[in-house]
Amino acid sequence: MSDCRAEVVCLASWNADLICRVARPLQRGETVMGRDFRVAPGGKGSNAAIACARQGARTALLARIGADDFGRMALALWDAEGIDRRAVEVVTGEPSGVAQILVYDDGDNSIAVASGANAGLGPAHVDAAADLLRGARVVVTSCEVPLAATLAAFRLARAAGVTTLLNPAPAPAQPLPAELIALTDLLTPNETELRALADEPAGGDPALAAQRLQAAGAGAIVVTRGAAGWTLFEPGRAPVHGSGHRVPVSDTIGAGDTFTGALAAALARGEPMQEALRQANAAAALSVTGAGALGGMPDVDAVKRLLV
Ligand code: ADP
Repeated sequence: MSDCRAEVVCLASWNADLICRVARPLQRGETVMGRDFRVAPGGKGSNAAIACARQGARTALLARIGADDFGRMALALWDAEGIDRRAVEVVTGEPSGVAQILVYDDGDNSIAVASGANAGLGPAHVDAAADLLRGARVVVTSCEVPLAATLAAFRLARAAGVTTLLNPAPAPAQPLPAELIALTDLLTPNETELRALADEPAGGDPALAAQRLQAAGAGAIVVTRGAAGWTLFEPGRAPVHGSGHRVPVSDTIGAGDTFTGALAAALARGEPMQEALRQANAAAALSVTGAGALGGMPDVDAVKRLLV
């Protein structure tokens, strides 16, 4: 762990993913035999922080975990990835976040998240880490983190001139507060999340949704489009598209988190926006070639090799 200032601070969720394969969705009250059970590291914030650290940025976490086996799993993982976790609170009496995932034989899945300790991350944690946040270049968060914590962090970041990056995932059930939109320099929704944010109907025009958010004060919006790549909407400029890479897909778990984390790392080292997006797009493409969120998540050399 480095004693130098973090370049990227992630307000992070940590979930242990408890994954079990079953033939098909269950009926109410039904018990079936599952198979291939495994516990995998997850949580959008933790995934993004690891993607960011693997791209060479000094990365710190602001998070809350339980003093339990899943919490210890998180600490060991973050230490192995060289992530500064001095601002992580380990709480007794609350469980770490978990995501119970049923994967069906047709590849579809159902997920139930119990936020546990994640739900207690609040403005007081942000205040306690104020120096860490002010010293960063980019602050990253997602909708798995309580809104009050994100708002407090973005207020502080904006006042200190630190870039604010919000991955609005999972898609918020209600429109985000106007103040949060206005405090966000960069949003990274996928197409579904973009429509949810802008209250656009399914099939609505992404450009209109982006315009609506930017009229409310949002900065740049990068819409991730799966295998098709990304589209950048900047206020007052024509949209810019980047194509996806053709890669062999293992699974797409964590693709959006990798995109967000790698983008934060590239921006923190001063890359211009479109170059940063090129690198994020390559990192996310490589991430889908390996199993789970972390299996394919690349280091900085792997991204360079894909981009030569
Ligand atoms: P999310 O995982 O949040 O739903 P996307 O599916 O849009 O987000 O994926 C995020 C990014 O991951 C894409 O913009 C792209 O860079 C990369 N990606 C996702 N799926 C693929 C794929 N099948 N092939 C290549 N790149 C992909």
